[in-house]
Amino acid sequence: MPRHPEAAMPATKSAATVPCPHCGKAVPWTAASLFRPFCSERCRLIDLGAWASESHRIPGENLPPDDEDNY
Ligand SMILES: [Zn+2]
Repeated sequence: MPRHPEAAMPATKSAATVPCPHCGKAVPWTAASLFRPFCSERCRLIDLGAWASESHRIPGENLPPDDEDNY
């Protein structure tokens, strides 16, 4: 009789996860994670939107430094 039931399911904790590029949440790398490497559609859309706005920014353009959260 097994004393540790989790030992019967070794794949549970060894499933590969990736950090969501937007919020850093661990996302299981499985077919069930439709938005991987993002944790959700929201994070994917937000991140893609941020990337798009970054690409649209013209280097050398003198914009007023109004956003202080410029990582
Ligand atoms: Zn996320």
